[in-house]
Amino acid sequence: MGEIACRACRGHTGHLVLDLGEQPACDYFPPCDNPGPDPVYPLQMWLCSSCGLAQLAVDATVPEEPRGAEPAALVAQAADAVRRVAAAGLLPAGARVAEYGSPHGGSWLGLLADRGLTPVRNGGRADVVLDCFGLMHAADQSAALAERLARVVPGGVLLLQYHSLETIVRCGQWNALRHGHYAYYSTAALTAMLAAQGFCPRTAWHFTLYGGTVLLAAKRDTESPAGPDDAVQELLVDEARAGVLDPALVLGLQVSARAHVKGLHDWLLAERSAGRTVLGYGAASRAVSLLRRAEADRALLPAVADASPAKQGLRMPGTNIPVVHPAELAERRPDSVLLFLADLLPEVRAAFPEVEDAGGRWVNVETLGRCPVGG
Ligand SMILES: [Zn+2]
Repeated sequence: MGEIACRACRGHTGHLVLDLGEQPACDYFPPCDNPGPDPVYPLQMWLCSSCGLAQLAVDATVPEEPRGAEPAALVAQAADAVRRVAAAGLLPAGARVAEYGSPHGGSWLGLLADRGLTPVRNGGRADVVLDCFGLMHAADQSAALAERLARVVPGGVLLLQYHSLETIVRCGQWNALRHGHYAYYSTAALTAMLAAQGFCPRTAWHFTLYGGTVLLAAKRDTESPAGPDDAVQELLVDEARAGVLDPALVLGLQVSARAHVKGLHDWLLAERSAGRTVLGYGAASRAVSLLRRAEADRALLPAVADASPAKQGLRMPGTNIPVVHPAELAERRPDSVLLFLADLLPEVRAAFPEVEDAGGRWVNVETLGRCPVGG
């Protein structure tokens, strides 16, 4: 590998903290009649010693994702977030808002329009510049952050929402690492990135989405004499406890990966040996490296059901497991449905009561190889 330059501070000193080997693009769902092998690229997380940003070590040009259905959990979180930010006085009626969305959906513009905010398009400046899981998709982190900050009018605010590295490390969410997601943020690293461009975090909100999601509000240094508030300081304390800047502790993700992969493989084998049928649910990007490393194929997991028509009829990247319509859950009456999106458990139990009516159970894949398997 050539020398790595940090995507934010351009520093060259850092550590590889997670290496998942060669992985397909998790957005590349080939047709079932395409036998592969699928193109693979090294998938590694590198932690910058200078600014603390965790990031993809290697650039791989990866294909676009078929857009999935927007999970109800994401929609509910957006509504909750807008309520809380508005209560803090940061979303006044009449304000202009520029949104940087995620390719995975989750726009706030409808909710903000209901509160009387006006969208600004085509690169115009705004009172509120909002980024919901968008920034992570930029290969050049400092340029992407600069573009967003340049659109904040004097007195304005940047709102930045991210799945927190503290959560990833504390919960062992090693398969959050994926091609196309270039950065994995801690509040500490973002504070350094913002400081390099004359901004500073003012306050923050925490959400349980994805196990722990943070929304950070930043303003210009010159407009922030009080500096970060207690909410930001608490996040920094929690992050220090999880060790998000300590490569030795972030390396724990590698241990989690090994245990989780073995747990899944052993469980699938045991289910098959016991003559029990298993289907998956949620053709999620985070399932891709997990299934591949667990050497799961259609003999162990005959299909993964997914609500997104864009994925049905295709197969999981890097394995021969087909993606099917959720109606198959009722038709095939599996003994277990392996859920790849833990956030969706209440949603899918309600949407597919036939699974439990037929004596089947939902199994959260996150629990395999971690703690005793439950429903
Ligand atoms: Zn850096």
